[in-house]
Amino acid sequence: MPAVISLKNVTKTFPGTRRSAATTAVDDVSVDVEKGSIVGMIGYSGAGKSTLVRLLNGLEQPSSGTVEVLGVDVGSASEGTLRGLRGRVGMIFQQFNLFGSRTVRANVEYPLKVAGWSRQERTRRVDELLDFVGIADKAGQYPRRLSGGQKQRVGIARAIATDPEILLADEATSALDPQTTAEVLDLLRQINRRLGITIVVITHQISIVHELCDQVVVMENGRVVDSGDAYRVFAHPRATLTRRFVEAVTQGVPAGETLTALERGGGELLSIDISDVTSEDVGEILHRHRARHAVVHGGITEVLGRQIGTLTYRVHTDRDALERIIDEIGERTEIRHLTAAAGAGTAATDAGNDPTATQEVAS
Ligand code: ADP
Repeated sequence: MPAVISLKNVTKTFPGTRRSAATTAVDDVSVDVEKGSIVGMIGYSGAGKSTLVRLLNGLEQPSSGTVEVLGVDVGSASEGTLRGLRGRVGMIFQQFNLFGSRTVRANVEYPLKVAGWSRQERTRRVDELLDFVGIADKAGQYPRRLSGGQKQRVGIARAIATDPEILLADEATSALDPQTTAEVLDLLRQINRRLGITIVVITHQISIVHELCDQVVVMENGRVVDSGDAYRVFAHPRATLTRRFVEAVTQGVPAGETLTALERGGGELLSIDISDVTSEDVGEILHRHRARHAVVHGGITEVLGRQIGTLTYRVHTDRDALERIIDEIGERTEIRHLTAAAGAGTAATDAGNDPTATQEVAS
């Protein structure tokens, strides 16, 4: 698949002032976005995400490196070329950015007017778009009368009005409640699958990436610390930050006081990484060995329908069965025997607090 966006060693430094030092907001970033994919760019506040968006739509020029969008070198393109390019890249925003004084229909119609569509073509296209995003009945309303989810549907209809090849979603669901978020994500998925539009999602919410994105780019301090297939990145994190993102949802391996409290409950504590080995698989193995068990810590999440996480089980069984269980599961995934006596079995590790427990990627 050809790349519709290609960043090569892109650095963006903002010069310092008398009061502040220079800031490198984007630091030697190289990323390719394949046509037809849904890519999530995730990072906490200050990671450089907004700057990256501004580089992609030509609002900022890179200090060094090249930003190529749909074959246009954004750094050297004329204003006219950039204007043409912006028509091929739709954008949706956290705060929707609708015209408050115009109706839903007029908001969606606006980019078509700018692009010189005839009145008749515009009417037909707006009807089609409002139908597609599910708010045909709101055509005559003003944005202030709409819910957040409905406003974002207007934003989406406007963004895809001129049939762009790329849609940039900048924290597009951050202001929405979970139910509305799920509906908007569903709409974005349809836009990708049915219209073939490549989508770049910029977010600090890991759940968005889990549900929607097939590729992910993890950013920290302007740098890409992890990237690739979404399941790989979250099931086998290469960067401490990625691991933290996952553990924020799945709790990771218990350590410290949490572990001490769990140990007081008796039995053996087994902490198991869930990935290709699902929680159902682990349950089946424990049942087969007739080991009484319960999940006492951890959590799992699904990335594009596949499980990821860490579950800690309290297991009551005899020594032999325990060894067989550890061997059988250990052949397929990471298992830690947290209550093992020192030197016996699989040593208990405090992976949650050990920065060396996960391989760091030098970027
Ligand atoms: P994010 O969107 O991930 O929160 P930003 O791209 O907004 O990150 O910011 C990355 C860093 O660059 C921050 O330290 C921010 O203060 C700095 N920065 C962003 N824009 C400017 C600017 N126009 N001038 C100076 N510093 C900036």
